[in-house]
Amino acid sequence: MKPINLKIKTKQRNYKIIIGSNIIKKISSLLNENLINFEKCLLVVDKNISTKKISEIKKSLKRKKVFTYYFKANEKNKNQINVSKIVEIMLSRNFTRHDCIISIGGGITGDVSGFAASIFKRGLKFINVPTTLLAQVDSSIGGKTGINTRYGKNLIGSFYQPNLVISDIKFLQSLPKREITCGYGEILKHAIIANKEFFIFLHKNSNKILNLKSPYIEKSIYESCKIKKFVVEKDENEKNLRKILNFGHTFAHAYEATLGYSKKLNHGEAVILGIKTALNFSLKKNLLKQNDYDLIKRHLLSSDLPSDIRKFFKNSNLDKIISFMLKDKKNNSERINLVLLKEIGLPIINKEYTKKNLNLFLKEELRN
Ligand code: NAD
Repeated sequence: MKPINLKIKTKQRNYKIIIGSNIIKKISSLLNENLINFEKCLLVVDKNISTKKISEIKKSLKRKKVFTYYFKANEKNKNQINVSKIVEIMLSRNFTRHDCIISIGGGITGDVSGFAASIFKRGLKFINVPTTLLAQVDSSIGGKTGINTRYGKNLIGSFYQPNLVISDIKFLQSLPKREITCGYGEILKHAIIANKEFFIFLHKNSNKILNLKSPYIEKSIYESCKIKKFVVEKDENEKNLRKILNFGHTFAHAYEATLGYSKKLNHGEAVILGIKTALNFSLKKNLLKQNDYDLIKRHLLSSDLPSDIRKFFKNSNLDKIISFMLKDKKNNSERINLVLLKEIGLPIINKEYTKKNLNLFLKEELRN
């Protein structure tokens, strides 16, 4: 199958996403075709990427001066210390704004590298090579970068668009099954908020997609990117429409935080649980059509996706969950702002509920 291109237009910069199989070997040609020139580059590499893949990339970049920084991707390391190390390497090697950072890893590596790229001499070239499904369908598009602090996740960051995104599905073959499920959660979110036809496609083909079968996996990545592209182009800086991408996320962030970002529940799994909770709440508030609710519920069950919060939380976690929901960037101290759903493809933003209201609802969810 030939690589698929998607053009993203933003005020900061227009760039291309290239989706294909085994395309990273030709990174040099891809850069040339897209008129991206530089003398030096720093590869920021997730330690879990095979050395074979990195050798292929280096071989293709043989005409450039290539430096490498290996990065252990976890939420703890998504911090200022690693950003400083990346910046330090580039300063010591006299990088200019015309040089380049190439991130090779998942969302964590991309967020750290993108943030470092945005602050180095007020911005140097940035190429993102997402290697997880989640990063290919979500975090590599839209230009959000961020790092964590002890006060919370992604609290420091910038909007910084890449010059090119290269999504090679071959990377996904070494990805643990659980990480594939996580990426699938974001694909599903995109379908639920924007495109019923795509949702039906997912419902019919989820097994093939979860097993990375071609051309189903490419189509899912492409359709998912297209939805995010549409939203991001309309609202680059998350003033309004872009909020729909947070569907399920206020719950998800609170779930991850309540468990202390432990391995029991990773980001993507928390998102799937958050989506399910947002659907239940939408139904409870008589906003969501029963038919659409049943369809999504059936899909979650048949695709064996995590959807029962009772497997992860007890009543005793409730206060913590609510307090993290209140701490979410989008909320004031008393009311919680949520994205909910009317029907598949029709989300509603800026629905506000009191702490008491959410508390009662979640108590019932944990009891049912
Ligand atoms: P990740 O980067 O932690 O990767 C998940 C795990 O997979 C890690 O252990 C990593 O080492 C490993 N891995 C990566 N590629 C691999 C490969 N090809 N083979 C084998 N192992 C591989 O997590 P993620 O799910 O990609 O991203 C989650 C992060 O993305 C979160 O920090 C979240 O806040 C952020 N995010 C950012 C945006 C955005 O718009 N910037 C959007 C969504 C999520």
